[in-house]
Amino acid sequence: MSYDVAIIGCGVTGAAIAFELSKYNLKTVILEAENDVASGTTKANSGIIHAGYDPRPGSLMAILNALGSEYAPELCRKLDVPVKWTGSFVCAFDKKDDVTVKELYGRGLKNRISQMEILNPSQIKKLEPNLSDKITSALYAKTAGVVSPWELCLAFAETAVLNGTELKRNFKVNSIKKIPCEQCNKEYKNAYEITSGKGEKVNASFVINAAGVYADEIHSLVAKPSYKIKPSRGQYFLLDHEASGIVNRVIFQCPSNGTKGVLVAPTCHDNIIVGPDAEATEKDDIAVTSQGLNYIAELAKKSVPSIDLSLSIRNFAGVRANSTKDDFIIREVPESKGFIDFAGIKSPGLSASFAMGEAALMLLEKAGLHIEQKKRFIDTRKKIRFKELSEQEKKQLIKDNYTYGRVVCRCETITEGEILAALNSIIKPVSVDGIKRRCNAGMGRCQGGFCSPRVIKLLMDFGLEYDEIMQDKNGSYIIAGEL
Ligand SMILES: Cc1cc2nc3c(=O)[nH]c(=O)nc-3n(C[C@H](O)[C@H](O)[C@H](O)COP(=O)(O)OP(=O)(O)OC[C@H]3O[C@@H](n4cnc5c(N)ncnc54)[C@H](O)[C@@H]3O)c2cc1C
Repeated sequence: MSYDVAIIGCGVTGAAIAFELSKYNLKTVILEAENDVASGTTKANSGIIHAGYDPRPGSLMAILNALGSEYAPELCRKLDVPVKWTGSFVCAFDKKDDVTVKELYGRGLKNRISQMEILNPSQIKKLEPNLSDKITSALYAKTAGVVSPWELCLAFAETAVLNGTELKRNFKVNSIKKIPCEQCNKEYKNAYEITSGKGEKVNASFVINAAGVYADEIHSLVAKPSYKIKPSRGQYFLLDHEASGIVNRVIFQCPSNGTKGVLVAPTCHDNIIVGPDAEATEKDDIAVTSQGLNYIAELAKKSVPSIDLSLSIRNFAGVRANSTKDDFIIREVPESKGFIDFAGIKSPGLSASFAMGEAALMLLEKAGLHIEQKKRFIDTRKKIRFKELSEQEKKQLIKDNYTYGRVVCRCETITEGEILAALNSIIKPVSVDGIKRRCNAGMGRCQGGFCSPRVIKLLMDFGLEYDEIMQDKNGSYIIAGEL
């Protein structure tokens, strides 16, 4: 098959680019190695839409973070992505930190971030009474928010697919060859043949490399290595709803050790998230360690002394795509016309994702892609979230469709109707966690202990055999055989 553009990787970067390209009359395909979208770093991070005061002024990170956080409110509203505009604090604990807070404020001004102020201890206590008495000042950035990162990725990807983009899952790119342009779209002077590990082939005139921690390896398939991804793992605690309210804003400490500082924050699903640390690791190493968790626990207590980490319902880790460059690497590869890297997309990559599509389009046009806006583009998406409805709306919904009257996940009040809607959605889930990412079944206190068997049964009703069902990624089988 021949395409105008092939996007390698369907994390939030690839999905956001696909969403933007789907506004134009283009043949676009996304090639994703895993069985679902949002399977890489996008599913395991802090979920913060950063205000944008942190990155070095003038860097791509600074420009795209500022633009991304500006675009985020409207895009989240249109695409029905769970988000809360909480604001964030960066807390200082001594004179050195006070200086850092002032520096961050100054950097924020240079990055044109609005609605920031530096608070004194009594102002801090008034807004966040559970914070430590030892905090000496804090940078308050009112435009920061918390978002569901995997739902954001799904929203971009689903809308792109709805508007004609093709998504090929289980397509792990393992070779890319420059081919004569006659074998692709003759309009263009560049063409690539992309082959998966299983031998499936796709031709495309332009290629976007959005392969996360593997972007350096994808780059090396078409050009000399010019950077390396140096993965860094960050671990977390996720606390039960019972902890919610202990803080109402994202509470950072001053940046240290390659992180934006250990945070305690509400999530958009009313949990509390605590983390991350930063440790050099392998690309796929998402293990959690007692050492890492103890370190995070200690720092979290420094900010919020009364935090009860025994309310933890899950620990997890994500891997940052840090690179040998000090910025996002977003550019056409000089020796490979039409091949564009979106590499080293570390934090604030999620925040910047809202602007990544625009950046990609600019580079693609510069590289020669012809674009023409579609006459019809579906730019909205709406989901039913049963527990957020009024009593009246719930009654009516159950009357119209009785499956919304059957609660499958009791911890999160997720109904069979919502799971069936997920199973019928345009990018169908094929695993238990795929359903969790689409409708939150299994996200609560019991972490799927009670609802997983029913979710498995529903997956089987949709055509999967019991021994095909996976917890998440390929190979994570749950049921080994019949007795
Ligand atoms: C601990 C931590 C905390 C963070 N916190 C924040 C935050 O609060 N706010 C923020 O803005 N950012 C944050 N980030 C950064 C943010 O999560 C990332 O920038 C973002 O998720 C990167 O998305 P991506 O699509 O580039 O990469 P990924 O999500 O990793 O997606 C890459 C995709 O490419 C696929 N792929 C890889 N190789 C191949 C191949 N050969 N063929 C086909 N597909 C392939 C993968 O399967 C994957 O789906 C954090 C990151 C970490 C690790």
